[in-house]
Amino acid sequence: MDEIKERLDQVRENIQKACGRAGRNPAEVNVIAVTKYVDVETTRRVLDVGLTDIGESRAQEAVPKWEELGERGAWHFIGHLQRNKVKAVVGRFTYVHSLDRYSLARELNNRSEALGQPTRCFIQVNVAGEESKRGLKPEEVIDFAREAAELPWLQLAGLMTMAPFTEDPEEVRPVFRQLRGLQQEIRKLGDSRLNLPHLSMGMSRDYTVAVEEGATFVRLGSVLVGGPPGRR
Ligand SMILES: *Cc1c(COP(=O)(O)O)cnc(C)c1O
Repeated sequence: MDEIKERLDQVRENIQKACGRAGRNPAEVNVIAVTKYVDVETTRRVLDVGLTDIGESRAQEAVPKWEELGERGAWHFIGHLQRNKVKAVVGRFTYVHSLDRYSLARELNNRSEALGQPTRCFIQVNVAGEESKRGLKPEEVIDFAREAAELPWLQLAGLMTMAPFTEDPEEVRPVFRQLRGLQQEIRKLGDSRLNLPHLSMGMSRDYTVAVEEGATFVRLGSVLVGGPPGRR
């Protein structure tokens, strides 16, 4: 059997078990196959086994893959996004998971308007306050979300975080729990533009814990396609 298919079956089983432990419906959990480590042929195989969400973190590497395979899936931009790369991303990527500053929000909005195609965004939150990580501080998120919600061509899809690197994923459970707490706090404001239905959290090492804590998108690279585990 195809190796990617085998890996996917294992991932789906693990997600199902995590959902069982948490009393969740596995249909709520979307797997994003992160293909940043692999070439266009492997990305094609990922789509061939039935995965439909593709994650890439660098525009210059993603665009050639998108040119070949773009119509076959929904594309997620998950890496740091520089403003001068926004043109390459909007119109190709349905989702941007790395919205972390207002200047970027405005640029994404303007480009989306120019193409007549809204961009769905996740606000990236640096829950653990790591120096090396991007993202807003948790206490900045509500004000930022209110401002971003004023931009008509952005659709706020949810919150995203990257947990610290640990050998034992149990250690990062509080990070995921805090992101969900923040989502609930924002929803309680009762503003329909701040519904933020999704939580993008969980990578190869920690996705089962993230699913137990409410992830609706997990971003999986090495566990699905091989390659080194993601930089944290
Ligand atoms: C690389 C990357 C991933 C996937 O990492 P793995 O550990 O290989 O699953 C997920 N999210 C982001 C933001 C990444 O950059």
